[in-house]
Amino acid sequence: MLKTFHGAIKHTGWRCFSLASLPETHAMLKKTCRDFAEANLKPIAAKLDKEHLFPREQIKEMGALGLMGVNGSPEYGGAGLDALAFSVAVEEIAWGCGGTGTIVSVHNALYVNVLEKFGTKQQKEIFLPGYLDGSKIGCFALSEPGSGSDAGSLLATANLDGDVWILNGTKAWVTSGCESSAAIVFANIDRKKKHKGITAFLVPMPSEGLSLGKKEEKMGIRASSTCNLILEDVKVPKNNVLGNIGEGFKLAMTVLDGARIGISSQALGIAQAALDCAVDYAGKRIAFGVPIIKMQSVQQRIADIACRLESARLLTWRAAALQDSGVRFTKASSMAKLAASEAATFAAHSCIQILGGMGYVTDMPAERHYRDARITEVYAGITDIQKLVIADLVAKEYGIDTR
Ligand SMILES: Cc1cc2nc3c(=O)[nH]c(=O)nc-3n(C[C@H](O)[C@H](O)[C@H](O)COP(=O)(O)OP(=O)(O)OC[C@H]3O[C@@H](n4cnc5c(N)ncnc54)[C@H](O)[C@@H]3O)c2cc1C
Repeated sequence: MLKTFHGAIKHTGWRCFSLASLPETHAMLKKTCRDFAEANLKPIAAKLDKEHLFPREQIKEMGALGLMGVNGSPEYGGAGLDALAFSVAVEEIAWGCGGTGTIVSVHNALYVNVLEKFGTKQQKEIFLPGYLDGSKIGCFALSEPGSGSDAGSLLATANLDGDVWILNGTKAWVTSGCESSAAIVFANIDRKKKHKGITAFLVPMPSEGLSLGKKEEKMGIRASSTCNLILEDVKVPKNNVLGNIGEGFKLAMTVLDGARIGISSQALGIAQAALDCAVDYAGKRIAFGVPIIKMQSVQQRIADIACRLESARLLTWRAAALQDSGVRFTKASSMAKLAASEAATFAAHSCIQILGGMGYVTDMPAERHYRDARITEVYAGITDIQKLVIADLVAKEYGIDTR
């Protein structure tokens, strides 16, 4: 379905990007995704959250629409669209269900796009079919119990034995780890080399020696599973090295720039859902004889949410447009991630205030938005690290080195 937008979107990008509105094709895509989310995700989001259910059927349907390979090349069944299209699609999916937004965002940005950018033809032929149509999910295993923000200090090892690499270690917090059919695993081939020994490997799941840790009991985004991957002498063929040996850290940092646009977009979707919920409720709830939306304090909250949301959306679309234009977009994606994640937690917090007691119970979605929003400030680079990245790049513009 999304493939129909391919020809039209291919040549849009930064030059045609208008601050007043999306290009027409992206606007149509947005509506397609919103219609899907409204009909298929919003009605079940509370159940998925409550019962920690993975939306397998909906993933299949999104695969048929092209949403599991938004930027994937049509040659392998992808929709072949740009980063702005990815942002627009993830926002709408997360508007319907924050947890499903995580699954779609991570699968696209940290599996499909990584293979597209760094995979060999042979790797693509093995590890892309089925992953773009929603039948299979992929995951990205960089973090470990002892290293998150400090990813360069990861402890998993890879030792070459003839024609195979032997992987050992524990990868933590792996999104969709429980459902994945393949993982991109980061391990060090020589710890003395520190981050310059880190290498990315394509690991089929299941594989002998690879087991899953317990499914984490999370505060929010519960439609998405999170677990450890435990590697005990897992044999990986030499051909499964993704990118170059010793360049896995650089690879991870590169793809995380794009992944931050996905998480920003997820945050926008959750923030928009919170704003919709707050305005709708405020228009109906009567207090002191009038709908509470007539109270100035409620109006101020709504104005604050709307301003933060719109500014974060512009930063996110700008980061996506910069990515599409081929220039470095690290600062832009960190700024988008910082602004959008804080807009989402602010919007969800304010939504609960506007709903009063009804904001605190599961009869209404406000408390779920609050729990779902919170993760966007943490994963794919926690807020404090985004600030370090932004400050460092700003200082560089003044010729000052912060390191
Ligand atoms: C639900 C969920 C899903 C996830 N999915 C994935 C996934 O699919 N793949 C994956 O690889 N990882 C994933 N992660 C891991 C996630 O990216 C990390 O949790 C995150 O990067 C933070 O790392 P950490 O938890 O180790 O915290 P730490 O890095 O230990 O940070 C703890 C605190 O110390 C602060 N801190 C650390 N270093 C600095 C510094 N230099 N300056 C200032 N403050 C600092 C942090 O800001 C934070 O406040 C996921 C995590 C969660 C919770």
